[in-house]
Amino acid sequence: MSKIVIANWKMNPQTLVEAENLFRASSGAVVCPPFVYLEELAKIDSGAVLGAQDIAVSDEPGQTGEVSGEMLKQLGAKYVIAGHSDRRWKLGESDETVNKKLKEVLEHELMPIVCVGEKSRDSDFKMFLQNQVSLTFSGLTKEQIEKCLIAYEPVWAISTTPGSRSDTPESAIESIKIIKEVLVENWKLEIGNLSFLYGGSVISTNARDFLSLKEISGVLVGGASLDKEEFKKIIDISLNV
Ligand code: PEP
Repeated sequence: MSKIVIANWKMNPQTLVEAENLFRASSGAVVCPPFVYLEELAKIDSGAVLGAQDIAVSDEPGQTGEVSGEMLKQLGAKYVIAGHSDRRWKLGESDETVNKKLKEVLEHELMPIVCVGEKSRDSDFKMFLQNQVSLTFSGLTKEQIEKCLIAYEPVWAISTTPGSRSDTPESAIESIKIIKEVLVENWKLEIGNLSFLYGGSVISTNARDFLSLKEISGVLVGGASLDKEEFKKIIDISLNV
């Protein structure tokens, strides 16, 4: 089965021209640019698919600065990231808010990329992860959870976190197992129907370590997705594992 590569550009690049160049070089990936570039990038036939980095909790119009699921659909987004750690930890997004956003993504028939992951791998990390997963997916049906791409992104491994380092494939799998257990126990989900991604300092030299694992359906790439050559290498690896 082919693996998926997703680019999270975060708040990059600074100009539309740079965004267009990067998008043209991202064939075969799902690209999540800042909202403001979606409309123009949707006009380019690059072989990449568009996703959004966030969504409003509802279509209720009194939400200054927010972007609704309906708008995202019209702008050409097919995927939406819910619960990225930047939003959870830097912008104060709670599990309850992420849960509302996730429901909104599903409501609009967009494909959810749901990020979960502990802030530090301390003695409480397992309990933290179990709790975060339960709250993030709360109230969703089994069928809805099966539609999600669940990205395990330990915050300590995200390249913008000071002192970050990539997780090892072994410990990423251990965490994915914890997440699976919560979903299987609480929702009676079949393990085979769940899709997991890994994200956190994925670069061309470690991408194969993650992409070659049967437990991992793809990678979510931040920093390295902003470097055309580097990102192309990761996409090529995904096609050859
Ligand atoms: C991310 O922002 O989702 C991410 C995984 O970032 P990076 O690849 O830069 O660690």
